[in-house]
Amino acid sequence: MSARTRPDLDQLPPYVAGRTVPGSIKLASNEVSAGPLPSVVDTITRAATDVHRYPDMGATKLVDALSKQLEVDSERIAVGCGSVALCEQLVQATCGESDEVVFPWRSFEAYPIITQVAGAGQVRVPLSEGHALDLDAMAAAITPATRLVFVCTPNNPTGTTLHRAELERFLDSVPSDVLVVLDEAYREFVNDPQAPDGVGIALERDNVVSLRTFSKAYGLAGLRAGYAVASPKVAEALRKVCIPFSVNALAQEAAVAALEARTELEERCANVIAERTRVRDELLTQGHDVPDTQANFVWLPLGERTQEFNEHCTEHRVIVRAFPGDGARVTIGSPEENDAFLAATKAFPV
Ligand SMILES: *Cc1c(COP(=O)(O)O)cnc(C)c1O
Repeated sequence: MSARTRPDLDQLPPYVAGRTVPGSIKLASNEVSAGPLPSVVDTITRAATDVHRYPDMGATKLVDALSKQLEVDSERIAVGCGSVALCEQLVQATCGESDEVVFPWRSFEAYPIITQVAGAGQVRVPLSEGHALDLDAMAAAITPATRLVFVCTPNNPTGTTLHRAELERFLDSVPSDVLVVLDEAYREFVNDPQAPDGVGIALERDNVVSLRTFSKAYGLAGLRAGYAVASPKVAEALRKVCIPFSVNALAQEAAVAALEARTELEERCANVIAERTRVRDELLTQGHDVPDTQANFVWLPLGERTQEFNEHCTEHRVIVRAFPGDGARVTIGSPEENDAFLAATKAFPV
C-alpha cells in the first residue's frame, strides 16, 4: 500500500511555468529582461553574509518602508512569499469547504489551483468579447456561498485594465462581507489615467485588498516578495495563516532597496511602456488582433491556431506562453528581443 494523498489532487492540473530554452529568447514569464535594478544587486550581495540567521519574521524594515512610501498604516500591510502566496493565504483566511471563490477566466492560472487546494469551490466567469473582465457577469456570479472574488487588473494574460468608475460600481454591488482581491501585479506598467489605484480603494473599503509584487517591474521574481494592503483585520488574518519566515532575508533587504530606487524603476517602466506600444502597433499592422494592454505583455487571441503559433515562435528561437485553444501571451522584452519576436510573427501567416 502506498501513502494516501487526497484523491482530488489527481485531477488538479499543475502550474505551468514559462519554458526556459538555452539559446532562445524567453518572453514567457512576464519578467523584465533588464535584470534587477543595479543598486539592488549590491544590497543582495551584502545581505548574503547574514543568511545563517533567521529572517525578521515580521519583515519590519520592509513593512515600514512600504508604509512610508504608500502612506498607509503598517497594520494594514502584510508581506508574502510572492503575491501568489498572498492569494493562497487570502483563500485560506476566508474559505472553508462549502464556500466559493469567484474569478474571471481566462486569468491568472494560479487562481483555480489555489482554490481547489484550499478545498473551496470555484466559479469561473468568462471574459467579455474584448478579452476584458466582465464585471456584470462577475457580480451576477456572487451567491451567499461566495467568500472571495479575484479581480485581476491589468488581467493576466490578456493585459486589459478596468476603469475606476466601473470597478467602483461593481464594488458597490458586492456584499460587504465578501472579500474582493484586486490583483495588481502589473500596476507599475499602467499609464491609463482612468485605471484604478487599488491601494487607495483598499483604504476606503474594508472588504477590498490590493496585491502587489516585487517580481515584475522591480525585477525580483527569483527572490519572492509581494505585499497586500488591506483592512487591519484582513492584514492580521494574512499574517496568521502565513508560514513562519516565508519572506526570506535577502528578499526583505532587496525589496527595501528596490523601493528606494524609484527613479530607476520609473525609467524602466517608461521603456517597457514605449516598447509595448511599438510591439502592439506593429502586430496590428501585421494583421493580428491584440487587445489594448496596460501590462508588460501582449495577448494574441489565436484560438485553435495557438499551438501552431507557439511552435512557429519556438522554431524562431522565441519562447512565448501559449494557452492552447485560447491564445498566446508574449512578454515585452528589450528592443532587440522584441524585434526578434516581431520578425517571427511577420513570418506567421495571419
Ligand atoms: C506574476 C503574478 C503574480 C505574482 O507573482 P509573485 O511572483 O508570486 O509575486 C500575481 N498575480 C498575477 C496576475 C501575476 O501575473
